[in-house]
Amino acid sequence: MSGCTLTNEQIEKTKAFHGHWCPGLALGLRAAEVGLKEFGSANDEDIVCVTETDMCAVDAIQFLISCTFGKGNLIHRDWGKAAFTFYSRDTGKAMRIAVKKEFWGRELTREARIEQIMGADLDDIFAFMNPTRSVPVKAHLLASLVCEECGEKTMESRTRRFEGRTLCIPCFEKLEQR
Ligand SMILES: [Zn+2]
Ligand SMILES: [Zn+2]
Repeated sequence: MSGCTLTNEQIEKTKAFHGHWCPGLALGLRAAEVGLKEFGSANDEDIVCVTETDMCAVDAIQFLISCTFGKGNLIHRDWGKAAFTFYSRDTGKAMRIAVKKEFWGRELTREARIEQIMGADLDDIFAFMNPTRSVPVKAHLLASLVCEECGEKTMESRTRRFEGRTLCIPCFEKLEQR
């Protein structure tokens, strides 16, 4: 087996969703291909994706696997890596994939890079490993507190304590700077 096994329709619809065609989205398509193969779509299964990048690639995950920020099954860890971890809450299966450093090789033009990504074997693009972290807690299970400065309800895990008061992050940052 060689090259991307997604259908033309899947590829074209993902491009339309993202708004342009770029190496980042191509990489996302290949990551989504792994996710679909190994875990299926979040429309049918309780799939969670933790993405370590917020670049173009994530749009393919959102569109094809239906892991989205709105549903709470897409979680961004701002670590700046082309790496994705998939979890199934149903089966407990988990897998992290990260682009192999050897894969990038020499500098390529944008077009050649896209061609390389779409034509490569998944094993040549990604290292597959067991995640070191367990599946994140569902967001709606976390309590909310009211910020004592602006009065807005805030997820407890995002509140800060400052001079004996419970604050949301923007209020905390504003008051801390005074
Ligand atoms: Zn892009
Ligand atoms: Zn506030």
